[in-house]
Amino acid sequence: MLQFAVPGSPRSTPGSGGTIAGLKRTAELGLTAMEVEWVQRVPSNTEHIEHIGKVAHDLGITLTVHAPYFVNLNSREPEKLLASKKRVLHALTMAEIMGAVSVCVHPAFYLTHDQKDTYEHVRRATQSILKQKKQFFPNVNLAFETMGKHSQFGTLEEVLTLSQEFDIYPCIDPAHLHARSNGALNSVREWNTMFDQYTQALGKKSLKNMHLHFSGIAYGPKGEKHHLPLQNSDAKWKDFIAVLAEKKVGGVCVCESPLMEDDTLLMQKQYDIFN
Ligand SMILES: [Zn+2]
Repeated sequence: MLQFAVPGSPRSTPGSGGTIAGLKRTAELGLTAMEVEWVQRVPSNTEHIEHIGKVAHDLGITLTVHAPYFVNLNSREPEKLLASKKRVLHALTMAEIMGAVSVCVHPAFYLTHDQKDTYEHVRRATQSILKQKKQFFPNVNLAFETMGKHSQFGTLEEVLTLSQEFDIYPCIDPAHLHARSNGALNSVREWNTMFDQYTQALGKKSLKNMHLHFSGIAYGPKGEKHHLPLQNSDAKWKDFIAVLAEKKVGGVCVCESPLMEDDTLLMQKQYDIFN
């Protein structure tokens, strides 16, 4: 089963729009998943996080998490690298307490380093984070995201190789890949190839439980500029949903449109045509 997720509390959440109220609003809208956006910082109040998890569970809402943006697993400054690893570990640990299934992470920037060298550094950092898995986040997946800018580590090949190596699964963002390639990855044929690459790396069953992002996107020669509403972009989003349905992709697809729940519902409605 594929669930479409809002990227944080819906815009139509009444009051100050906290996560608990956002979960209730999500359920009211008929949606069944939310990505909790810990992109600035990860909370540390375990009681509150447990409570969020319980409310989500009672409402039948599946949770994923977006880890902080301030992460660079390719940093050559020991303090910065350690801080990055700690942020990722903290997000995974709190996600476990909350009952989330997967945490997406923007892995790294190349800076002045080449792809191979960067990969090796990200690999080592990943290894050290995953050493803590058993103790702190046994049920949560570490999902490295495919990234939209040329300066960012995170091609499809990179996140697949890394995920295969550590028996985890990535966060596939086809909009980022569309932007990164300056306009490719926007057709049934190309998405089929992308999913073929995915299953070649992670196995046939891997499509049953994916962590996906999707949105419209503005881009240029250096890749991603910013996200766009589905209907104000060149994204062939209806075709993408047809591919998801045809391939029987399962898991969570977060709609990262600036219109938030409006576009999440649009995707859900389109998907429901096939079921
Ligand atoms: Zn992201």
